[in-house]
Amino acid sequence: MFRLSRKIERMRSIEVGRPSRSKRRRIVAIRPVDSVAVRCISVDSPNHLYLCGKGWIPTHNTEAGLCWLGYVIHQAPGPMLLVQPTVETAKRHSKQRIDPLIEISAVLKDLVKDPRSRDSGNTILGKEFPGGVLILTGANSAVGLRSMPIRYLFMDEIDGYPGDADGEGDPVALATQRTVTFANRKILMVSTPTIKGFSRIEAAYQESDRRRYWVPCPACQALQVLEWKQMRWPEGDREQAFYECIHCGFPIQDYQKGWMLAHGQWIAENPGGSKVAGFHLSSLYSPHGWTSWGDIALEHGQVYRDPSRLKVWVNTKLGETWEESAEQLDGEGLMARREMFGPLLPPGIVLLTAGVDVQDDRLELEIVGWGRDEESWSVAYWVLWGDPAGPAVWQDLENLLYRAYPHARQVSDLYVRAAAIDTGGHRSMEAYTFCRARQERRIWAIKGLGGMGKPIWPRRSSRNNKGRVPHFMVGVDAAKESIYSRLRLKEPGPGYCHFPLDRDAEWFRQLTAEKITTRYSKGRPIREWVKKSHERNEALDCRVYAMAALHGLMGMGLQLNKEADQREQYPLKEGVALPEVVVAAPKIIEPKKPKVIVPDKPRQSSWLGPLRDRWLDGRRK
Ligand SMILES: [Zn+2]
Repeated sequence: MFRLSRKIERMRSIEVGRPSRSKRRRIVAIRPVDSVAVRCISVDSPNHLYLCGKGWIPTHNTEAGLCWLGYVIHQAPGPMLLVQPTVETAKRHSKQRIDPLIEISAVLKDLVKDPRSRDSGNTILGKEFPGGVLILTGANSAVGLRSMPIRYLFMDEIDGYPGDADGEGDPVALATQRTVTFANRKILMVSTPTIKGFSRIEAAYQESDRRRYWVPCPACQALQVLEWKQMRWPEGDREQAFYECIHCGFPIQDYQKGWMLAHGQWIAENPGGSKVAGFHLSSLYSPHGWTSWGDIALEHGQVYRDPSRLKVWVNTKLGETWEESAEQLDGEGLMARREMFGPLLPPGIVLLTAGVDVQDDRLELEIVGWGRDEESWSVAYWVLWGDPAGPAVWQDLENLLYRAYPHARQVSDLYVRAAAIDTGGHRSMEAYTFCRARQERRIWAIKGLGGMGKPIWPRRSSRNNKGRVPHFMVGVDAAKESIYSRLRLKEPGPGYCHFPLDRDAEWFRQLTAEKITTRYSKGRPIREWVKKSHERNEALDCRVYAMAALHGLMGMGLQLNKEADQREQYPLKEGVALPEVVVAAPKIIEPKKPKVIVPDKPRQSSWLGPLRDRWLDGRRK
């Protein structure tokens, strides 16, 4: 294989990690940048500790850190530590961001040897260069954080760090401890903020000199910080969003941002109060031609009714923390809004997923129907009594997972498209065996993983269990947060949860059995989900797993709203009307032992055998 020099030239001109639109921008000259934030990162600035955040134009905060890294290698070498939330993200960051940075920059390429050459000193988590070394590690690894004295410390996405690294304490404190031997140390922390009261970057920003970028109004010239509450748009046309000057009311258009940004200035709220320089910027400041105000308003329109997605928007687009509702969920209130679904799946349902909880003497299973914007319907809930060590209860599960559900629209029957089965309990071997033979049908073995910042569905599966069966670590806290914020919704629409009329009080008690609490460990607040009392919570677990299965499908490319568009093309079956919401009179049903379900299909003895024939030939009859 050979490369043409022309092609290499072209590759050099590609910026890493920017939107494709930026490719149209050409570099015509390099001049010193008179940006306060950039000057603060520069190593000859007199202060020791610098902070960049809370939400420096999202994705650009990491970019700023990478530029700093390049500068250190080239101009001011020394030992540098780059901390990512986990060792795995550090590896990914190394391959996807740092290697290309070195590859496309001629000077860096000369200083960091090719990893393929012998004794290059260039590995995924360590890059040697003359006069220094760059070490990458994860905040979950105490060993990595204890490595060696560090002059430059770059902590990326610190809101994603665990509260404790391997039981040795706060990873931020551990890493910072490494820099104390250097009088001329420099620390850069960046992050997208998360939840109010728990966000590390917000706390650090509050302790800094708190700089915000003030920009002049093109009409009245008065300075202001750009705030979401000043965004306006013509009714029904968010793409035309403009900014209303807080002083004179002038409608500022997106294209005027360039002039405003060029004439703005950083003003500290707390000047002299701290030697830490702190910067906050939201995506409302994105230069014209990148993320426009119209884009941001449009995205807001898609998520504002669903708190779980609105939170992400507030964190990433506004760079602000999310304040949670302190209101306790009440199962009886939810029960009061049960609806009559009828014999067919409600017309809004696009696909079905299942979540299965494995207990010592039974399996519990929820089938959830998902529609546009993750509006959901609890289609069925079963308790399958029987010892999971034996085959009978698994056969029952198999029959239920294969069941066909007729739809209210004129489409073919729906089947469960994906299922997530908890293998964290005592009967994990049996659960693995069941899933192993059914991976092709997206019956996935999962394990719940607590902790803030863990995604609902991981990027890839793990295999370190006894049976070598791939399993997925599900971020149960993120899922519970999403579910509980959605249970608070009062109006059908994005994120809303529908329940059938035959669901009993015990189920609603289980669904709302947990609450979030704050515990302090070594001075850091830690959010934890705990059961309110010694109540059971299997209904909640099943919903968490069914939601995880949906996220697993999304990870494989599922586009729910696109499928909803297609589904809505089909007319309703005869005699079906679009449902009116029937609200049952609130009444309290005494809790009872869930009844045993006898599946409607005959048992077969080959439950451990190869894939069932109808799945192999795809007929599913
Ligand atoms: Zn004005």
